Amino acid sequence: MDHNASHDIIIIGRNIAGLGAAYALGMAGYSVLIIGPETRLYGGFQLAPNGFSAMETLGLRQGIDAGALTVNAIQLKSLERAETLAEISYDDTLPYAGISRQHILECFLAALKNLPVTMIDSSLKALHLGHGSAQNRLLLETGDIISAPLVIGADGPAGICRAAITGYQPEQAATDHLAMRAEILASALANSFSNPVCQLWLGRGSHFVCYPFTHQGQLLVNAVYCMKRGATSSSTSAAIQQIFSRHPVLSSFADDNIVWQETDLPDCESLPVWQRGGLTLIGDAAHQMPPHLAQGAGQVFEDIACLSNCLKQAPVEQALRDMARIRSHDVTAIMQKARQSGSVMRLDGLSARLRNNFIKIAGGEFVEDWLRSVWYGPKE
Ligand SMILES: Cc1cc2nc3c(=O)[nH]c(=O)nc-3n(C[C@H](O)[C@H](O)[C@H](O)COP(=O)(O)OP(=O)(O)OC[C@H]3O[C@@H](n4cnc5c(N)ncnc54)[C@H](O)[C@@H]3O)c2cc1C
Repeated sequence: MDHNASHDIIIIGRNIAGLGAAYALGMAGYSVLIIGPETRLYGGFQLAPNGFSAMETLGLRQGIDAGALTVNAIQLKSLERAETLAEISYDDTLPYAGISRQHILECFLAALKNLPVTMIDSSLKALHLGHGSAQNRLLLETGDIISAPLVIGADGPAGICRAAITGYQPEQAATDHLAMRAEILASALANSFSNPVCQLWLGRGSHFVCYPFTHQGQLLVNAVYCMKRGATSSSTSAAIQQIFSRHPVLSSFADDNIVWQETDLPDCESLPVWQRGGLTLIGDAAHQMPPHLAQGAGQVFEDIACLSNCLKQAPVEQALRDMARIRSHDVTAIMQKARQSGSVMRLDGLSARLRNNFIKIAGGEFVEDWLRSVWYGPKE
């Protein structure tokens, strides 16, 4: 089968980075082939002003806004003492929201409809990078072999494309930290969790984040509990049930009907180099963000907006080089901040108590300052 006969670029991965990159390229007049299994997403994202601004650059703001539930406060709370330590309030005009992941995916799919973009429901099995003028060769799980001068790797942090740049590594042992994630009908929880507020509960060696979002007319709550693997003797789902069932405020999260999904939280790094031969990485394939600044998708959207801007100024090969150079630099600073935030959220014992006391005394302003450069870029 000769899939690439009429395509300028092949993209591996069909989640937000792959679809977003296809949109930027399609809008610039390039024909694109996307290879990846159809994705259906679960749960919500927090989308911050930088994510909205990237969507504005791409001309997709209207569709995104239609599914966004504005969040007008961040509350920092003590998990142990069930008290509020600090609160940052925003007015309703700030573009900061809880939003369904599936809604974002559907916005991209709708935007791709009239563009020269084809999708194949298959997976990449192997990638051989060409050198010099030789083409890259892709083996698909269907057995087809495709050649292409330009490939974009949007197949996530464990994908073949990232490995083609970093080198192949044996499978890593399970990571130290994990997240338990759930999407819960707001009506099944106490009323306070329907408020348009992001609650961050800081515990000892663990933390819990929840905020509301809507999907298909339903009010839902996205809940994420991050903990150290093996921190308790019981299974992880039994452990979070134990924690919540005795908690004076969070007990409704202990409901047996809530399905918690376990996700590894690996030690993340952003690659300094995103390109090799005709392959360019984008999204989590290049920079898997720790979730502690809620910036994973926001940074993906910034990659896509940057690519779109670069395509306005240069042909695709140069535009991909420019995007990789600009973004690999910018993402490093955000990644560092996300890792530092994670270290603070994971404090245990006396250090955790001191952290909470500090937040209580310092108030929300220092958190606002911490987020400002992530949301609006560094001060000139
Ligand atoms: C606990 C947690 C909470 C988070 N919360 C937030 C938040 O509040 N806000 C936020 O902005 N971000 C958040 N994120 C991050 C966000 O989920 C990611 O940044 C985002 O999903 C990355 O998208 P991506 O398209 O780059 O990669 P991925 O989502 O990893 O998608 C990769 C795609 O490639 C496909 N693929 C893989 N291998 C192949 C192959 N061989 N061939 C073809 N296709 C392949 C996969 O099927 C998948 O569809 C969170 C992440 C975690 C873990």
